[in-house]
Amino acid sequence: MWTFTNGTTMPIGTMYCIGRNYAAHAREMNAPVPEAPIVFLKPPAAYATNGSTIALPSFSTNVHHEVELVVVIGADGENVAEQDAASLIAGVGIGLDLTARDVQQGAKQRGEPWAVAKSWKHSAPVSAIVPIAEVLNGALAFTLHVNGELRQSGITANMERSVHELISYVSSVFTLRRGDCIFTGTPEGVAQLHAGDTAIAALQDLITLTVHFS
Ligand code: MG
Repeated sequence: MWTFTNGTTMPIGTMYCIGRNYAAHAREMNAPVPEAPIVFLKPPAAYATNGSTIALPSFSTNVHHEVELVVVIGADGENVAEQDAASLIAGVGIGLDLTARDVQQGAKQRGEPWAVAKSWKHSAPVSAIVPIAEVLNGALAFTLHVNGELRQSGITANMERSVHELISYVSSVFTLRRGDCIFTGTPEGVAQLHAGDTAIAALQDLITLTVHFS
């Protein structure tokens, strides 16, 4: 369940994840910013709560952190226009799109799907969700520290496609449902996690996510 900071809850639906939505991250992956958004999915069971200890999967030797703004959808929508997209947003949080980078690289080389690399159990830890009414308009800054070291720092103003554009695009292909979310892409600085690490992601001074790895 999504837990909102005002105490309400909502069942978790499909997690839509956007690839390469920050140019600097696309550069560090030696990949172009795509002409159309790259979308992949995580199932609801990929969710992990704040404070979780997440077991790194045995099938990977190189799991990366990708800190991302997560937008939770509060109403169903299809073919939503950009100017109407705000009405679908229930709130925002900060999350990690945990990625088995070695598995993903192999899948890319063979032209295979990313599901195992991206969607394994607990690969989507997300903070409590801040109701959108509490969030100021404009750019949101976010960070990720691992064992106290700053690893990633982003600002939503640097997105190639805005949250509203992403909602419009995703709803033009899929049907957005209440409880779905969109992982909006990661800025540069993705790197490996190890057993024993503690990661702390922060969305401005609004909300934090702490995750331990084993
Ligand atoms: Mg990502």
